[in-house]
Formats: sequence, structure tokens, C-alpha cells
Amino acid sequence: MSTIFEPTPSVLAKTTDGRDYPVRRVFCIGRNYAAHAREMGKDPDRDPPFFFTKWAETVVPSDTTITYPTQTSNFHYEAELVVAIGKSGGSIAEQDAADHIFGYATGLDMTRRDLQLEAREKGRPWDTGKNVEQSSPLGLIAPASECGHLCSGRIALTVNGEVKQDADLGELIWDVPEVVAYVSRYYTLEPGDLIYTGTPAGVGAVVPGDIVTVTIEGLPDCTVTIGAKAN
Ligand code: MN
Repeated sequence: MSTIFEPTPSVLAKTTDGRDYPVRRVFCIGRNYAAHAREMGKDPDRDPPFFFTKWAETVVPSDTTITYPTQTSNFHYEAELVVAIGKSGGSIAEQDAADHIFGYATGLDMTRRDLQLEAREKGRPWDTGKNVEQSSPLGLIAPASECGHLCSGRIALTVNGEVKQDADLGELIWDVPEVVAYVSRYYTLEPGDLIYTGTPAGVGAVVPGDIVTVTIEGLPDCTVTIGAKAN
């Protein structure tokens, strides 16, 4: 037997203690901070959370220069707390969610906002707006055994040093245990699954040359440079 070509290796995220964390899947929660829901023209009520998915290969490490993607003129940053799953489980109860979490990281859910909003308006899937190559930058993953389980603390984003997003994890409409429980009702969560938990208010566009940094209290930063536009 022979193979037509070599399989693509797993994306390897890194932990704060230097280990590899092979990424399996990426789940992203939408509209999980009230002020951001409002800026996107939606009511921040406690409707059930919703999520979409991205390919694992959209994950890139901090300190990457990411290409400004094709087919957009409104490429946005979204600073997010990321949960890294460490133990398999389906229909996880909220009180058991912590057992399934390996750790936490800072991340970015980079978005072709023009395409996302057009899809939203037309009731179409968000793939071209959200599942964008290099669109899921991820900082080092801190094991929960070291950083604890995060439920409060500052989350902020700067572009070229200027603060654009500034909130507290305590403002999450659906907190981490609720989000883990919710996603696990639809998919059996597996080690390597990442959940991007949503972004606070203040999202905006980047241009080539911008340096975007996400900070979350207690976690390593995630910084990317926006590279030249793709051809
Ligand atoms: Mn997002």
C-alpha cells in the first residue's frame, strides 16, 4: 500500500512549560459579552449561546506575521479567552467542566467582518467570514494546575500600543463551565479541542503593518503582526 501524499501533521500549540498541545478542532462562541452583542446590533439577552467552528489549521502561534486575507476590506481583531480541553467528554455537566479543561490561553478570532455580516444578513453560513487561514492566533497554553480556572481578570487588546478592547472575564454572559457544557451537548469534546469563548466590545479593523496584542491577567500575551495583503 502506498499513500498519495503525506498526511498533514497536526498543528502543535505550545504550553507554558514547553510541551506540545496537538490541536484537534476549534469552536468559537458568538456574542458572549453584552457590550459586544450591542455593537453588533443584537440584544444581549441570555439566549442560549451559539457557536461556529474553524479548522485546526487556522491556529497559529503568538509572534506570527499573518497574511491579510483575500476577499476582504474589513479584517477585524477579536480578543478572546481560549479554553484548551484535556479530557474527553460528551454532555458534560457544568459542575464537572473543570475536570475536562487542560488549561487556558489568550487568543484572537480574526474575522473578515464584511463577509461575516453579509452572510448573517442573507442567513448563510459564516465560513468565509470566520474560518479564515491563520485566523486563530493562540498564545502559550497555561495548565489550569498552574493558573487555576479563570472566571475574572482583565482582558484587553491593543493595536500598535493603543487600547481598543478592555473588559473583564467576569462579564462573560456564558461563563467557561457553561460554555464547555453547552458545546459538549452537540459534540463529544476531545483533548486538543479549543474553545474561543467570545470577544468583548471594541472590535475593529486592522491594516498591514499593525501589531495586535491580547493580554489576559495571569496568562502569557498573544501578539501578531498583520502582514501584506494576499494576492
Ligand atoms: Mn469571536
